[in-house]
Amino acid sequence: MKIELLTVDSARTAVLEKQITATALVDTFYQKIDAEDPAIGAYLTLCRDRAHRQAERVDAMADKGDALPPLAGVPIAIKDVLTTKGVRTTAGSKILDNFIAPYDATAVARLEAVGAIVLGKTNCDEFAMGSSNENSGFHPVKNPRDQSRVPGGSSGGSAAVIAAGTAVASLGSDTGGSIRQPAAFCGVVGLKPTYGRVSRYGLIAFASSLDHVGPFGKTVKDVALILQHMAGRDPLDSTSADLPVPNYVQQIGEPVKGLRIGVPKEYFGEGLDPEVRAAVEAGIQELAQSGCEIVSISLPHTEYAIPTYYLIATAEASSNLARFDGVRYGVRAKEAKTLAEMYRKTRDAGFGTEVKRRIMLGTYALSAGYYDAYYLKAQRVRSLLARDFDEAFTKVDAIVTPTTPTPAFKLGEKADDPLAMYLADIYTVTANLVGVPGITVPCGNSKEGLPIGLQILGKHFDEATVLRAAHVVEHALAASATSA
Ligand code: GLN
Repeated sequence: MKIELLTVDSARTAVLEKQITATALVDTFYQKIDAEDPAIGAYLTLCRDRAHRQAERVDAMADKGDALPPLAGVPIAIKDVLTTKGVRTTAGSKILDNFIAPYDATAVARLEAVGAIVLGKTNCDEFAMGSSNENSGFHPVKNPRDQSRVPGGSSGGSAAVIAAGTAVASLGSDTGGSIRQPAAFCGVVGLKPTYGRVSRYGLIAFASSLDHVGPFGKTVKDVALILQHMAGRDPLDSTSADLPVPNYVQQIGEPVKGLRIGVPKEYFGEGLDPEVRAAVEAGIQELAQSGCEIVSISLPHTEYAIPTYYLIATAEASSNLARFDGVRYGVRAKEAKTLAEMYRKTRDAGFGTEVKRRIMLGTYALSAGYYDAYYLKAQRVRSLLARDFDEAFTKVDAIVTPTTPTPAFKLGEKADDPLAMYLADIYTVTANLVGVPGITVPCGNSKEGLPIGLQILGKHFDEATVLRAAHVVEHALAASATSA
C-alpha cells in the first residue's frame, strides 16, 4: 500500500474492507514520519499512545463486526494551535514549550469521535503569526515539493504533511490566509470555512474575530469530508452558528452549469506573477467550459485590506496574548525578584520577535489617543470591505482569484523584511475580515515545478458552492495532467 497516496476515502475503505488494520496503518505512518519528517520538520509532537489507543478502539469495532464510523482509521495531523488533551500543545511558541492541554478542541474531539486518529501536532508560525513558517519558536518547516523553499504559513506543518504523505488529512487555522496560502505553496487543498461554521473552542486565540479552523487534504472531497464532521453549532463557542450543516460530499458532484463566477479585477493587477496569472486564468477557463458564466466584477476597497487586517489582527493579538504571563500557562522565568519582573522576563524569553512586534503594534493601535485614528478607522474600512462582497454577491455566486501573488519563495528570502512577508497575504486576508468561506485548489505548476493555487470565495455559509466549483477545477487539472 502506497500510504502517501491515501485519501480520506481510500484510507477508510482500506480499514473497512480489512485490507489493513487501523493499528498497522498507524504504524506504517509513524515509520514514514520517523524516516522522512526530520528533513521536513512538519511535526512538533507525535502522540503515539493516543493514536494507538484510538486505532485499537477502531480495530475492536471492526473485529466485532460493528458498523464503523465515517472516518474510522483515518490518520490525521493537528496544527499545534489546537488543544489536545494530555498532549503537548505549544502554538509554535517557546512560552508554551511545556504546556500539556487539559482538554480537546471541539474540532479535534469531533473528528476523533467519528474514528479519525490523531498522529501528532504540526509545526506552525508562533501563535499563527506568519506566512512562511519561519517564525516558529522551534524550527522552520521545509516545503516537501522543493526543500529550499518555504511551505507557507502559518499552518506550514499541516500543509507539508499532506504534500509529504505523512498524514492523510490535517487541521489548520486561518486568520489571514494561513490555510489557503500554505495549501497553494505545497500543492494541496485547503479550506477556510465561514466564520462561525466550525467551533473555535480550544483554538489558541490569535485574533478572535478573524480566526477560523479548517481542513487540509489531497482532494476537494477530502476537505469536504473533514468539514462535514467538525462543522456545526458548539455550545462551547458562542460565535459558532446555529445553522444546519448540509451534506457537502453529496453536493460536490452536482453540475455547475449556470453558476455565476466573479473575477475581481483588483486581484489580477500589479505584483501578480505571470505564471500564477496564466494558471489561474486557465482554471477560470475550465469553469467556463463546464457551463459557468464568468462575470467581471470589482471589489473596490481591496487595496485597504492589508493595512486594515494588520491593524485589527495586531490589536486583537495584543489583548489575547496578555494571558501568557508565566502565571497560568507554560514556562515561567526563574530568578525574578518581583511579580512585574517575572512577567517581563517570562514574556521576553518566551515570545519571539514577530510576536513582540505584533503586541507592540496592537497595543499602540488600541491606546488612548490612537484608538479612533487606527483601530476604529480599520473597523470602518472592514465594513466597507464587507459591503464590497455583499454587492458582488448580488451579481455572482462565487469569486475566483489567485491565492498568492507568487509560488513558494525561498527560505530566508523575506525573513528580514516583515512588510514583504505581509504582502504574501494580499489575496487572502479580505475573506477573514469579511468572514466568507474560501478554498485553495491546485491549478497548475510553474516552469520550475512549483505548485500554483486558485482561490474560490463564496457567500457566507455557502461552502457547498465553493467546494463544487473547486471540484471542477481539480478534475480539469487531473484530466490535463493525464493527457499531457
Ligand atoms: N500571514 C498572516 C499573518 O501573519 C496570516 C496568519 C494566519 O492566517 N494565521 O498574520
